[in-house]
Amino acid sequence: MFQLTIMANPNQEIIYKKLFINNEFVDAQSGKTFVTLNPQTGKPLAEVAEADKADVDLAVKAAKKAFERGSAWRDMDASQRGRLINKLADLIEQHKSALANLEVLDNGKPFAEADFDIQCAIDTFRYYAGWCDKIHGNTIPADGGSLAITSKEPIGVVGQIIPWNYPTLMVSWKWAPALAAGCTIVLKPAEQTPLSALYAAALTKQAGFPSGVINVVPGFGETAGHALVIHPDVRKVAFTGSTEIGRLIAENAAKSNLKKVSLELGGKSPLVVMQDVDLDEAVEIAHNAVFANHGQCCCAGTRTFVQETIYDAFVAKSVELTRKRKVGNPFADDTLQGPQIDAESQQKILKYIELGNKQGAKLECGGNKWGNEGFFVEPTIFSNVTDNMTIAQEEIFGPVQSVIKFKTLDEVIERANKTSYGLAAGILTKNIDWALTFARAVEAGSVWINCYDAVTPQTPFGGYKQSGHGRELGEDGLEPYTETKTILVKLPTKN
Ligand code: NAP
Ligand code: MG
Repeated sequence: MFQLTIMANPNQEIIYKKLFINNEFVDAQSGKTFVTLNPQTGKPLAEVAEADKADVDLAVKAAKKAFERGSAWRDMDASQRGRLINKLADLIEQHKSALANLEVLDNGKPFAEADFDIQCAIDTFRYYAGWCDKIHGNTIPADGGSLAITSKEPIGVVGQIIPWNYPTLMVSWKWAPALAAGCTIVLKPAEQTPLSALYAAALTKQAGFPSGVINVVPGFGETAGHALVIHPDVRKVAFTGSTEIGRLIAENAAKSNLKKVSLELGGKSPLVVMQDVDLDEAVEIAHNAVFANHGQCCCAGTRTFVQETIYDAFVAKSVELTRKRKVGNPFADDTLQGPQIDAESQQKILKYIELGNKQGAKLECGGNKWGNEGFFVEPTIFSNVTDNMTIAQEEIFGPVQSVIKFKTLDEVIERANKTSYGLAAGILTKNIDWALTFARAVEAGSVWINCYDAVTPQTPFGGYKQSGHGRELGEDGLEPYTETKTILVKLPTKN
């Protein structure tokens, strides 16, 4: 393997700024561009070609052609698809510095986190590369003396719409299972973070994917995203983002051609801390559950439920740890928290903090914007939070921890489930009965015991209730990209 040195470089050159259609970088049909900002400074970073309906039409046409019978992609051995995906993973590894730098510049996350995300993306590609020639159906003893077999077939052209919080990682979660299944792809990255997806697109060409298999159309949700959602030749849309837009996409997809939809949406996930924990360890896990990626994580454990006997000590230690959290330049080695994604998000978070104060929660630390430029918010903790407060109910998507007191396990299970979301949950305890009772009762797609945010390529991830439809990652993650076909053979009745 390669010996890699990962280098932070705030002057990373931005090479790929055009749409990627049919293995070429092209201008938008309209000639329009849009600006992506550097959230650390709030200043323009790059001008990127802006796709709208006409470009989405071209991209879908290319993806449809690449999926036709007799095409290089359709005729390719499944094992060869696996080799291409592994080649892409190798190339991402070779280009890790460039991708991580683009991520920091475009999104604002600290370099070490960007580096970690890209490693997770590589792992995801490698995991699904191994699946390509293992996706198969059954032989079934059907009634009527017949022989039935099922096969798993790629669903066709898929539209994929992703958010800005984990730009490269989201690309891998979307592309890897779709490619493993044999689909072709049109992806719209978030308007705030189009750069790393375009860079990854260039690597797919270098890896040798045939023209039209992967297309990337940066642009806005209401135009490019919508055009993809209602396109009659798109068979399925995979979306990650807000519950509000997820609902709209499900409606529009149904109204157009009833295309299939998978949704990975928001959350207001509970992390329960029982009284038997090692306090320092629990404080740190709960801290990272909220503040990782500046709170911009769909599964963030933003409702920290702490048992009453350890509540005051837990709050005091959490405040001590959070005050030490270094905010600032995401390229600096010791920075743990960079800027929020944009001014709108910063304002929204500050509004929630104002509401927390107004509704009677106790502000323990933070609570303000940070610095004079860019979109920073101080890491913030509220104690004395009650379940009915807005900060305990709505997704803030920022660095705000709500510490909530509870007495018994039964009580906290009921309160943890009192939300329209159900993406993730966690419990910290040494008592196996408590841990498993909670894990079985909580309505969430992922339950983490004595850890949090433990997402791996091998394990399914997705939401109960209004946190989504379907699962990504693991074997389950292939399901949204395949159709099951039954082939039944009538056998002769005698002999
Ligand atoms: P969003 O509006 O749901 O955007 C996610 C993606 O959907 C973006 O690519 C967006 O395009 C696109 N989109 C928007 N409107 C669309 C439409 N009508 N049809 C098709 N695609 C459309 O999320 P956001 O504005 O980035 O963030 C808003 C809130 O969503 C956050 O504060 C947070 O609560 C939640 N969120 C959740 C996750 C998650 O991982 N579950 C991730 C990000 C945000 P644009 O790029 O033009 O917006
Ligand atoms: Mg940006």
